[in-house]
Amino acid sequence: MTEPQGDNAVDERETSDGVGPDDHRAPADAFAALSDPLRVSILRELSAHHRTSDEAAIGFADLRRRVGVRDSGRFRYHLNELRDRFVEKADGGYRLTHAGVQVVAAILAGTYTAGVSMGTTELESDCPICERPAVATCEDGRCRVACENDHALFQWSVPPSAAADATLPEIVDLAELLAFQAIEQALAGVCPQCYDPIETGIVVDGPPRPVFRAGCDSCGARIVGPASFCLLVDPDVVAFCRRHGLTLRDDHVWEFPFVRDDEGISVVDEEPVRLAFEVSLEGKSLSATVDERGHVTAVETGGDE
Ligand SMILES: [Zn+2]
Ligand SMILES: [Zn+2]
Repeated sequence: MTEPQGDNAVDERETSDGVGPDDHRAPADAFAALSDPLRVSILRELSAHHRTSDEAAIGFADLRRRVGVRDSGRFRYHLNELRDRFVEKADGGYRLTHAGVQVVAAILAGTYTAGVSMGTTELESDCPICERPAVATCEDGRCRVACENDHALFQWSVPPSAAADATLPEIVDLAELLAFQAIEQALAGVCPQCYDPIETGIVVDGPPRPVFRAGCDSCGARIVGPASFCLLVDPDVVAFCRRHGLTLRDDHVWEFPFVRDDEGISVVDEEPVRLAFEVSLEGKSLSATVDERGHVTAVETGGDE
């Protein structure tokens, strides 16, 4: 089974002369600006001010005092290194730019420091392929579920802050929630990482069965999973499953029969791609059509539904 992947890869493209346009500067430069712990402290204090004060900006002397630096020249040097990209001048003081707010949030969430690693736990769920127990692992923030025969069932990344006090089964639940939120957002055309426009599509050649893919040109985020995942964010399909006792809240995604079984999926058209799904639960049936972008375009349920 193809597992979905949440990638936080940083896009390292540059334009041909090595200098990107203002809004797409080389990420290496941006992170170099954060190389000194004092600069990170400045961002944290600006963020704390942002949270606790009605005033948008904070004055130079005030900010220096809060960061705890006596040498005003040294402080000004580091503040200037953050200017324009993460910090801007406004209303006689300084405040975070949009990128500054984002990077502080990521630093506070631990995104750039510790990845969660939690060993291995057997889940109360079996592999649908070989019926051996499903086993979860979490290495460096990457949560993965497979069985002892290495049938890959699910994979997604979780942020350290969200996983801090959780057990591994709870992290799996969270990872599934985050994955489907990301798929929903991608299908709405918005990158779940950076909010730029994102392309989605169904790929029918290559893997043994159709795959849903989304990739963001701006930040390098990508999502890969079985095409049947697209059904699980459609309200009509979700309601049908709920009527027959299956929800993403209480059941794992690999337990949904149309996710785990190859039967019931057919490629109706190749150019552009159109998929037909026949879903059967508790003797009731549902037909759904998915277009080349991964959108569910038609859902029909059996007569007495
Ligand atoms: Zn298995
Ligand atoms: Zn993106």
